[in-house]
Amino acid sequence: MNKIKGVKKISGEKDDIEKLNQIINLCRDNYNIAHDKTYSLAKSGIEICEKLSLSAEKNILETYLAFFLWHNNEPQKALSIIYSISEKLLANKNYLEFSLGVIITSLIEWAKGEVELAFNTINQAFEELKNKENTKVAIIRLNWNLGVFYFDLDEIEDSLRHYQLSKNSLDHETDFSVVAYINIGLATVYKKKLELEKAEKLFEEILVYSQTNNIWMVEARSYHELGMLEQLKENFDKAYSLFSKSYEIRLANNARPAIVTSLISMAQIDIVKKNFSNAEIKLLQALEISKEKNLKPKTSILMLQLSGIKEEQFKHKESLFYLKKHYELEKELKNVVKNNKNAYLQLTYKVQKTAKELEREKELSLLKTSFVSTASHQFRTPLAVIQSNTELLLMLLSKIDNHELERVKKVTGRITGQIAKMTELMDEVLILGKLTSGNVHYEAKELNLVEFCNILIQQFNAIQEDGRILEFKIIGETYRVKLDSKLLGHTLTNLISNAFKYSVGKENPELSIHFKAKEVILSVKDYGIGISKNEQLHLFEPFYRADNATDIKGTGLGLSIAKEYVEINRGNILVKSILGEGSCFEIIFKR
Ligand code: ADP
Repeated sequence: MNKIKGVKKISGEKDDIEKLNQIINLCRDNYNIAHDKTYSLAKSGIEICEKLSLSAEKNILETYLAFFLWHNNEPQKALSIIYSISEKLLANKNYLEFSLGVIITSLIEWAKGEVELAFNTINQAFEELKNKENTKVAIIRLNWNLGVFYFDLDEIEDSLRHYQLSKNSLDHETDFSVVAYINIGLATVYKKKLELEKAEKLFEEILVYSQTNNIWMVEARSYHELGMLEQLKENFDKAYSLFSKSYEIRLANNARPAIVTSLISMAQIDIVKKNFSNAEIKLLQALEISKEKNLKPKTSILMLQLSGIKEEQFKHKESLFYLKKHYELEKELKNVVKNNKNAYLQLTYKVQKTAKELEREKELSLLKTSFVSTASHQFRTPLAVIQSNTELLLMLLSKIDNHELERVKKVTGRITGQIAKMTELMDEVLILGKLTSGNVHYEAKELNLVEFCNILIQQFNAIQEDGRILEFKIIGETYRVKLDSKLLGHTLTNLISNAFKYSVGKENPELSIHFKAKEVILSVKDYGIGISKNEQLHLFEPFYRADNATDIKGTGLGLSIAKEYVEINRGNILVKSILGEGSCFEIIFKR
């Protein structure tokens, strides 16, 4: 099917056309196995097409060019090619390339969070192919694609159904890589359903299949997956040797992103075996590739692992550096995943999670919390040692003359100050860890807000060294509100201490409660340094600090914690501010 037909063979062009024919067949067979080769083949084929004005064949080859670009991390270019040729492919009955184009565009849109568009692209393609001949492979591909989407959404049964639909239609005509990827999809579903033996058996079959048919990408992937299954069984040596096999194949074929995956897995085993320096070498190598290829999810994992290793090596500063990068990336990435799921839920009005999935999520979050809390606690031990030694030093030195003693006190004062800062940072990282893993206790009770705020205000006013106080205003008829007082207390404490901290030398800050008919608004207002419009967008991100705050002490974590706490309390937080004039943070709770 899809051989070049109906091309007039004018003398002199015969060789070119034969060559073009060969090129197209080679692209069809190799696009998924030899990317670089397919790219140069497609390029040279397109040149021939242009010379001979063969537009249908040119479109075919452009599809493979787009596939290459997509794999080469140039999705935008790939998209614009496919969008411009898709209709022509369909009109020319080149369904093989048409369906490949659909896969490319829908997966790219998916990665951007365009869930509805991605689903629509596929459904529309199903419609277009209805009642047409020679569409079997195309339909198989589309079903595979749906399998991938549902898997991504954790809708495992739907994923399984679509993979099976495509598998059931396979025949000897289907190209090797499609067969292999459908089986990989199925085996991954089994793995997710914890049917590990079934998964292992299928991966072993895929391995043999890929070796017989020379599909190195699939061979490497199978070794890797089998390695992961051994790792689950805690057969670490066996797992390591499978990972290395996968790594060797990927290295030999210069499959850069996949090399990262192998290196991460091998490093994980090194870590289990406490070979930290070996692990570090692998991870740094992987990090270089990830950065070069802009692989954010991988980079994020690498940052977390490097942070753990640095912690083991007592290099706390570096550990914290990596941890911070990890958090920044996670925040960015979580949004894409969250958005896809949310968009999907809206699309289908489905809200359901199986007990098993919930269990898995719980396990994962437990892992995360335990890492963060171990890291934070371990930071504290050396800090306590430094603190007590500083005090000891001061005692020992108390015999020297007064002038010298003053100088020593200055130095130890600086040390103690930094220790306090570090301890505060650790406390906040610990809270953040609890938050990201969803382990925060929430218990709402009817609360008298006025009384609650009065106590808080007294505490604040008692500790101000510059004589300022917090003004208090109540607007509207008071009523009781159902809230978790601990979370609210922590949130307000942060906002109020910021208000004092960022408005030194200015008027008193104010706390007001506005009791409205349907909602209550708590606002903390100051007349201090303010925040620029641009920076307001980032204030609630962990570790973010505005430019004008650099000379004022802080960690950049308080507001991100405050925001999470407000949201757990079912409220919203927002900021209004003018640079140089002051800021007002508002928390809004529905009545
Ligand atoms: P921290 O104050 O420890 O740096 P936060 O998370 O509480 O961390 O605040 C993040 C950033 O938001 C601060 O670094 C500062 O730039 C800005 N910010 C917060 N509150 C105020 C305020 N009341 N006035 C001016 N800037 C503020």
